[in-house]
Amino acid sequence: LIQLSFPLNFIGTIYRELKQGLADVEAMFQLLDVPEEVQDKPGAPALVVKEGAVRFEDVTFAYDPARAILKGISFEVPAGKTVAIVGPSGAGKSTISRLMFRFYDVTSGRITIDGVDIRDVQQKSVRAVIGMVPQDTVLFNETIAYNIRYGRPDATDAEMREAARMAQIGPFIETLPDGFDTEVGERGLKLSGGEKQRVAIARTILKAPPILVLDEATSALDTHTEREIQGALDRVSAGRTTLVIAHRLSTVVNADEIIVLEAGQIKERGRHDVLMAQGGLYASMWNRQREAAEAAERLRQVQETD
Ligand code: ADP
Ligand code: MG
Repeated sequence: LIQLSFPLNFIGTIYRELKQGLADVEAMFQLLDVPEEVQDKPGAPALVVKEGAVRFEDVTFAYDPARAILKGISFEVPAGKTVAIVGPSGAGKSTISRLMFRFYDVTSGRITIDGVDIRDVQQKSVRAVIGMVPQDTVLFNETIAYNIRYGRPDATDAEMREAARMAQIGPFIETLPDGFDTEVGERGLKLSGGEKQRVAIARTILKAPPILVLDEATSALDTHTEREIQGALDRVSAGRTTLVIAHRLSTVVNADEIIVLEAGQIKERGRHDVLMAQGGLYASMWNRQREAAEAAERLRQVQETD
């Protein structure tokens, strides 16, 4: 049996998922939010992806009926394009990624992939076509190789190592006495947030799914490592439908559309230069981040001359 590093009260849910054959490591990350169980319709077919176009049509969602979190959200990620979602913390960004992965069903409206309502197909088949790098990565208490290979169990050793290299974690792993056979997690090596995130990125690079969901995928990394990994993420997302939730706005400049979410509603949308010219919420968020980055840079220079 696979050992998982989860608080005890989540084990029941995870065990049920394992029994139903729905186990997916990405699913487990998100189980930290204890979703209600979403059931497949009897006889639901598997989703077959041709293009990989994703649509949210007037989606409303509430975890608790008394409080709507998403209110009438409509957007499309055309096949192969990148849409970014930005906005203050608590706006509902991660909720959008959880709905896409069908951890919950929408309260009203619908989500489609290639025109098919994701409630009409097997949940497992939806998850199989989506590569998710979540905000907080939880790894199996297993070897690093196992954790990366989970993205595609039949990958060769060389492919697994190449994915690790692209995710900028390879050299670190090679310094460990047991290399890729190092056990991680509760009774093994404790990895930092950034290292775990890079393992999750390596797994996604290896899985190479038609649809990618990156939820602040590089948030736990320092600026230098982030820049290096961004290149690898850009390469995996090229030609793949990508929904990127971003904290650092510098990573969304090239998105085909940027959606600014605030309190569960779309406040602004468009490409970077258009939003900057509008001088609204996006422009003020951008300017604030630029000032913070410049201040950090000045501080670094002062420290260097000391
Ligand atoms: P963001 O990713 O933009 O920071 P989230 O989508 O994580 O925002 O959360 C949006 C809102 O939904 C927040 O107010 C949060 O407290 C609430 N929320 C998130 N997860 C749950 C949950 N499992 N149950 C109830 N409320 C939740
Ligand atoms: Mg979030």
